[in-house]
Amino acid sequence: MRWWRGMIGLLVTAGVVGWPGASQPQKVATGAWHQASFPVEQFVSYTSPFGPRGEDFHYGLDIAAPEGSYIRNWWVGQVVQVSQDGRCGTTLIIASGQWRHIYCHLRGRAVAVKGVNYLDDPGSGLVIREGQWVATGARVGRVGMTGRTTGPHLHWGLKYDGGWIDPASILRVMYGQRRGQG
Ligand SMILES: [Zn+2]
Repeated sequence: MRWWRGMIGLLVTAGVVGWPGASQPQKVATGAWHQASFPVEQFVSYTSPFGPRGEDFHYGLDIAAPEGSYIRNWWVGQVVQVSQDGRCGTTLIIASGQWRHIYCHLRGRAVAVKGVNYLDDPGSGLVIREGQWVATGARVGRVGMTGRTTGPHLHWGLKYDGGWIDPASILRVMYGQRRGQG
């Protein structure tokens, strides 16, 4: 049920009434989703969907991309976390209103400078730190293999109002709308 509530919140946020698969007829959207960015520059394939995976649950969408290729910010927002752990690896979390978008397995590492965490990815040309605002589509990191991963990919997670959302559902709305606008 959390997913459903989140989806409704999303539709209200975006001004979308009706969506692919809904029983009601689709109506015209505001155009907001048109501006969202696909999160990788060099898409290879989707390697693992959101949902049950063995005895676990996979809270994100895995997108394979060449190691060192750039990750793009899905929606304008503020970097609220740069961190690293053994599972998600080097991690970036960006807040856009009620949304949190999470990027895992980035190249490089998190370093603290005077109490502020930065993404340290030498050669990327990027300076990303907690507290910074980033534009939609801006390069925010590079695809790597940090944390638990067998190949270079972006694990992309999305939360709305604290509940997990299937990123593929968002991509469908984004691209459905693009088609709608020709
Ligand atoms: Zn994943």
